[in-house]
Amino acid sequence: MTKSHTFIEKIAEKLGLIPDLHKERDAVLPRMTQTDLNKFPPMEKWDHWEEYEAKSWPKKDKKAYTIVPTTCFNCESACGLTAYIEKESGSIRKFEGNPFHPGSRGRNCAKGPATINQITDPDRILYPLKRVGERGEGKWERISWEEALDTVSARIRKALQEGRNNEIAYHVGRPGHEGYANRVLQAWGVDGHNSHTNICSSGARFGYAITYGHDRPSPDHANAKFILLISAHLESGHYFNPHAQRIIESKMKGGKLATMDPRLSNTASMSDYWMPTYPGTEAAVLLAMAK
Ligand code: SF4
Repeated sequence: MTKSHTFIEKIAEKLGLIPDLHKERDAVLPRMTQTDLNKFPPMEKWDHWEEYEAKSWPKKDKKAYTIVPTTCFNCESACGLTAYIEKESGSIRKFEGNPFHPGSRGRNCAKGPATINQITDPDRILYPLKRVGERGEGKWERISWEEALDTVSARIRKALQEGRNNEIAYHVGRPGHEGYANRVLQAWGVDGHNSHTNICSSGARFGYAITYGHDRPSPDHANAKFILLISAHLESGHYFNPHAQRIIESKMKGGKLATMDPRLSNTASMSDYWMPTYPGTEAAVLLAMAK
């Protein structure tokens, strides 16, 4: 809704004391609204979407964008994002949620839109680097991808030929490849796959893997009648976003939420049951329930 300007504003604008904020009142761009509650550009406009440039305020500069669907990989939830590519410069200006993504449905945690920081981080590594000084000296030289791949593959091959399989380790930040790299390493006889997950969530994943056969199951939270959270925080656990929104759906339909957590987290405070276990005793509580 366009706000009409006051008498004082009219005079101040005429005298040039404040910028004329109302002259473009008839050229208001359509709101990013699909439904009353979800504000996204309609898909038929993704090839050409116009927005006002925030940095030009109070001037109303229109910027044209192409909106391209992509994926957030700041955790393995792999929520949908949309990249706003400025037509003028061809650069990505921002990331928003993708309302058509079946998992995240347009809702992301703060790390999703913050992906723009990775795109523009001045310290990001743009090409392969080889250390030329002593370890820790911080001296590097740029090498080609061919040289990097040849060097690494030659060393891996030599180690395999000499039976030094356990001297090979593969480390990946987010193991989102669903086992492919693991199978390659196993085919080589290498037990050296490592990622942050080995520490971050290995306990839960091991349990899931031997129980469900998959280490990251997605239960039908939205239709569950009772959900037990073990030290899992809907409001802060980034990993949880696609699950969190469905757990809340269950709660809105009358499902009960129980949270086992030493502290009264925001999630615990909103739960139907809070079980303040001593840290590390959750397994004992579960065994007591099973008994
Ligand atoms: S939960 Fe957050 S960090 Fe993880 S994929 Fe979704 S938006 Fe990205």
